[in-house]
Amino acid sequence: MSGKMKPGIVIGIVIVAAVVLLGVLRSGSRLVTAQSGRYIIMGTFARIVAVADDDKIARKCVESARDKLELVNALMSDYDPNSEISKVNKQAYETQVGVSEETFFVLEKALHFSEVSQGAFDVTIGPLVDLWHKAGEANSLPGDAEIAEARSRVGCEKLLLDSQSRTVKFAVEGMRLDLGGIAKGYAIDLAVEAMKRQGAAGGMVEIGGDLRVFGKSPNAGKSWAVGIADPREPGDGIAAGKMLMVLRLNDAAVATSGDYQRFVEVGGERYSHIISPSAASGARGFSSVTVIGKSATDADALATAVSVMGSGEGMSLIEQLEQAEAIVISPAPEYKIQQSSGAGAYLDSR
Ligand code: AMP
Ligand code: MG
Repeated sequence: MSGKMKPGIVIGIVIVAAVVLLGVLRSGSRLVTAQSGRYIIMGTFARIVAVADDDKIARKCVESARDKLELVNALMSDYDPNSEISKVNKQAYETQVGVSEETFFVLEKALHFSEVSQGAFDVTIGPLVDLWHKAGEANSLPGDAEIAEARSRVGCEKLLLDSQSRTVKFAVEGMRLDLGGIAKGYAIDLAVEAMKRQGAAGGMVEIGGDLRVFGKSPNAGKSWAVGIADPREPGDGIAAGKMLMVLRLNDAAVATSGDYQRFVEVGGERYSHIISPSAASGARGFSSVTVIGKSATDADALATAVSVMGSGEGMSLIEQLEQAEAIVISPAPEYKIQQSSGAGAYLDSR
């Protein structure tokens, strides 16, 4: 996760159907719901809802999901100087650094999405993220030499993974991995799997606008309703904003990448926190990209990738993938909505 995320500014999606109260409540005939309440993790808000046959199971599901979010945060946060990813960032040029199965899995996925997105998705983007963050603080655009220097430390071909020894090595000094575009999704997937193992009849895990739902919802077990925020009035992460449309979901993950809440400002101009590796500056194609799929890891990576790729290449990538649909909104002031051919199936027609 990027150290630049701030609490309260990353909610792109608002759950609308689940009437969720603190603690446990009755839903439907015999099912009960437990939930975590909204709390801060990975620099943003998370929420867990579990639906089960009895209170004890429901609470246990929430607990085990929460443990998984903590685990991924402890491994992959770059706020935490002791996390695995911080250790990799410090040592992987000098030596091969051994990592957990979880971190290795995410890094392999990241390389896969780098390939399918022709380099648009790039977890080695750290040096360029840092450069633009500093530019925002100094309110001054980075110079060509600085950009070239940061670029020399970015590129997935410089990230060397060895699956035999489960180690990571950097080919170039000064590289920095940033898993902010994929780790939330991965944490959500782990949490959902944990809830299923604990016997949940249904559930939802949300982190900073990315989420996954499965099984029965608290709304009498009917499908889950998930609102896509209107980028013109997205809310501030505490108060819900205006809803642009509502998705009806059963077993699905939804990830939203937007430039309307997180950005760097230089000279009055906004630059997205999502960096185009080829342009070495903030992506400009959309005000928001929502990807719907089965896996939250994949949806998260794809939403970031499509943000960089733009509507032509981004949408054709989505059309090629069987498990992914997208709803994208063009930048201000047009806010034109475009959706992939299968996205309509998820839209609430009632
Ligand atoms: P998301 O909110 O999932 O779209 O992720 C955005 C975050 O991903 C940023 O805050 C950075 O930490 C990181 N990031 C920025 N640009 C890229 C990129 N081109 N590929 C992968 N991750 C990126
Ligand atoms: Mg993402």
